[in-house]
Amino acid sequence: MRAILTFHSIDDSGSVISYPPGRFWALLECLGRAGLPVVDLDTLLSSGFTHGVAITFDDGMRSVVQHALPALKAHRMPAHLFLSTEPVGRVQPWPDQPSSIPSFPMLGWDEVETLAEGGVLIESHTHSHPDMRKLSLDGMQAECERADALIEQHTGRRPSYFAYPFGYFDRRNLDFARDRYRGTVTTELRPLRDHEDPAALPRLDTFYLKSEELLRHLDSPPVQAYLSARSVLRTWRGSQVIPESGALAALRRAFRPQS
Ligand SMILES: [Zn+2]
Repeated sequence: MRAILTFHSIDDSGSVISYPPGRFWALLECLGRAGLPVVDLDTLLSSGFTHGVAITFDDGMRSVVQHALPALKAHRMPAHLFLSTEPVGRVQPWPDQPSSIPSFPMLGWDEVETLAEGGVLIESHTHSHPDMRKLSLDGMQAECERADALIEQHTGRRPSYFAYPFGYFDRRNLDFARDRYRGTVTTELRPLRDHEDPAALPRLDTFYLKSEELLRHLDSPPVQAYLSARSVLRTWRGSQVIPESGALAALRRAFRPQS
């Protein structure tokens, strides 16, 4: 089983894009026990590699340096951060942010540099986090060039991976990303298969993986069914963040061990 895990904020607010710090620490240990080493994307996507996960963070919330970096360093695990560069140093940057999501302070450039020095690879998530489908080719280039140049200026490394803002993309965006980056991640909710389009790599949003049991059995048919059900709901909502659904919470309970 190979998968790319998605996190946003590591905090105790309970929001739909928050993963609790204590559980993040437990998750890193649980992956080790499950025989799923945490590797970088180059390794995960290399030919012949069959078992492991890559950890990714989207957007650039400050809680990543506060709560994820110490755990990653303690476990000597790599990770990637898909950073939108315009919101760096701000609070609540998203004009279309759902009311269910609290305002998060974003990383400052000094903290981005701390992450990079701590082994987190800083990748591109555009400058202003637009819906890429609405941009011209010039617009896409401007958004990505600005972000990539700023990241290179601050970390000394040019991003090689990209994440579509909101997970939205069309055929033009796909061709653009394929030309520009080694790989591009989406919000399509599933593990990696043998032959993936590098410009449309699926991920597993850890919003759905807060139970240690689910993590431990990521590779099992019930958990795959659970994730498929989540995937349908996600597509229907057309959004990368959705509130818990009663019906699917029941499905999750069904997979919980009785002991
Ligand atoms: Zn984003």
